[in-house]
Amino acid sequence: MSRLVMKFGGTSVADLERIRRVGRLVAAEVAAGHQVAVVVSAMSGKTNELVAWTDGAGAAAQGLEPSDDEYDVVVASGEQVTAGLLAMTLRNMGLPARSWMGWQIPIVADDAHGRARIDDVPPENLVAAMDSGQVAVIAGFQGVTRDGRIATLGRGGSDTSAVAIAAAVSAIRCDIYTDVDGVYTTDPRIESKARKLSKISYEEMLEMASLGAKVLQTRSVELAMAKNVPLRVLSSFVEPGEAPGQGTIVCDEEEIMEKRIVSGVAYSRDEAKITLY
Ligand code: ASP
Ligand code: MG
Repeated sequence: MSRLVMKFGGTSVADLERIRRVGRLVAAEVAAGHQVAVVVSAMSGKTNELVAWTDGAGAAAQGLEPSDDEYDVVVASGEQVTAGLLAMTLRNMGLPARSWMGWQIPIVADDAHGRARIDDVPPENLVAAMDSGQVAVIAGFQGVTRDGRIATLGRGGSDTSAVAIAAAVSAIRCDIYTDVDGVYTTDPRIESKARKLSKISYEEMLEMASLGAKVLQTRSVELAMAKNVPLRVLSSFVEPGEAPGQGTIVCDEEEIMEKRIVSGVAYSRDEAKITLY
């Protein structure tokens, strides 16, 4: 049976109605015959709120050394809430499901708190749960250090969690659900001629990300490329089966038949060019 990882960002789980829609998208993939692991972000705005609390309680307020390990304890909590809510929602829809925190899998990370890197994801626990027919609902953004502390993976890190899980359980694909329906040739809010790409290579996606296109955390694309995990970027703001549900596939260049010379144009707002004559 094929395994699939579905990742939902903050806007896709921003309230209970959206979490129910996520539940319907997950149920559709289960009905299609996949074993599903779902990775969730915190509800939109939550992580910023948590970060602001750590500023108030921590170093910024008192002129003390920052406690990065305790920062991680606080900011990782947003994803715990979403994972529990989605697992409950799935159960209410009649699907067996349970939540998983980073330390329960475990997602083993280094101790660079606030920007930790994933060292290892032993797949046994997740695979056993998925083989038993349970949907695994995983809190993104968080891992556990070798000495048992919570560590977070940097802002936007749930994308990287999802790719690491997909590689660990040998998923056929990692679907990244977001509030746009794919990767565009340039920012569609600025250029009306922007077109959605049906496929883009990892290399081009990395270039676009480094130039400021914010669809995916750069590290998640690097990891997907290293582990050869195909990604798909698509909108969660649709019901199952509804167009435009196909999104953009990010994959190895070899799998793209008709190569384009230039795939996209990204921009950065905080740069200017001055020419002296
Ligand atoms: N919730 C975290 C953030 O806002 C991680 C993520 O959503 O990817 O940065
Ligand atoms: Mg994100």
